[in-house]
Amino acid sequence: MRLIPTELIRKKRFGGTHTREELHFLVEGFARGLIPDYQATAWLMAVCFSGMSNEETAWFTQEMRDSGAVMDWSELGLTVDKHSTGGVGDKTSLILAPLVAAAGIYVPMMAGRGLGHTGGTLDKLESIAGFSVGLSSTDFKKQVREIGTAITGQTADMCPADRKLYALRDVSGTIDSLPLICGSIMSKKLAAGVGALVLDVKCGSGAFMKNPADAERLARALIDIGTRSGKKVMALLTRMDEPLGRFVGNALEVRECLEVLFDKKVAYEGKQPTDMVELTLELAGHMIFLGGKAADPAAGRELAAKLLLDGSAGRKFQQMCERQGGLLERPLPEARNCYVVKADHSGYLHYTDLEKQGLAAVILGAGRRVQSDQVDPTAGIEVFREQGAPVGKGDILFKLYAADEKRFQPAFDALRESYRVAGEPVARSPLVAKVIT
Ligand code: URA
Repeated sequence: MRLIPTELIRKKRFGGTHTREELHFLVEGFARGLIPDYQATAWLMAVCFSGMSNEETAWFTQEMRDSGAVMDWSELGLTVDKHSTGGVGDKTSLILAPLVAAAGIYVPMMAGRGLGHTGGTLDKLESIAGFSVGLSSTDFKKQVREIGTAITGQTADMCPADRKLYALRDVSGTIDSLPLICGSIMSKKLAAGVGALVLDVKCGSGAFMKNPADAERLARALIDIGTRSGKKVMALLTRMDEPLGRFVGNALEVRECLEVLFDKKVAYEGKQPTDMVELTLELAGHMIFLGGKAADPAAGRELAAKLLLDGSAGRKFQQMCERQGGLLERPLPEARNCYVVKADHSGYLHYTDLEKQGLAAVILGAGRRVQSDQVDPTAGIEVFREQGAPVGKGDILFKLYAADEKRFQPAFDALRESYRVAGEPVARSPLVAKVIT
């Protein structure tokens, strides 16, 4: 049969179901540049409107996986990874990969760039001078074998179809589609060849899945695709109706992670870890359990806390940085300009629409509005209060950072739509709402 891109776009637009052959044709065409970006984007939008059947989603994922090399780690035994569906201030991967590797588990992590209003691990790591996130499959393998972990992105030889579609989805309003998210996440993880996977499925106004039912549907679909491919997969449904941690933005988030990795007081502030550390330890506990180094997730978490506090995770991060060209001794870039946002009356802070805070960070320069945008590594937001915190008139709520001060007003306008100072206290959602195995 002769396949024509416009016919396949129209078929999906009007609710049709693709055959495996059609999906092969499309995905191969996207990966090899045989189908141009405008047709790829039109098809993505058609999928957003018409969806995909479970069978199509599974085929789409497999085709994306097979668009490049599929890694084989059988010589190392079980490998474990974690992937988040994306959120505001979500930076746990930077700590998790070295932390879990410090427990003696191989962690080959294939991560992504910023996506829509959410940040991406690769953009964050690139704010460390010299850090390379474009490892070839050969270098990826060598590094994981030798030091236990590497964080890399999709390349021309690993998951090139996701590299192309991910970058298009980022700037075309085609992110929040269950089959596209499943295909994107699971193709990367299957191509990276991991044996076990912990999914951090975000839920709330700052996530792509805004309510618990949709988040659970996504978690179950991701788990289903993974287990059908013989992987051990489980998911945590976690809070994303307030930012995770104290910073949003690339270099700012790296600084926050370095503090956790290298400063014991910050890592575990007395007995009460911050939400970011708390979530990192929870995820690490499950990864260490799946990796067979702990009898249960609680014991895994205990081991993770020890490895964080005794500096093992920090040393592993340092080793990873050195191998990937990162110059940790160079200071992280800092913004030239700062804009302070204060409360104009007293009450309780309520994050009403966190996606807008992510958009504010993009406007400041932490993400891309068009594909050719250069990310400003210094841009972002410092967050001074958590959900429900009491605030007094004049208290600092946020500091905005950017290289270009013309961005402050539009970013503030977006940020202002993300919260209000309410008269009544607001309950915080649980950090981990559900564990799905
Ligand atoms: N993370 C990914 O890798 N892809 C998505 O589509 C969403 C989150």
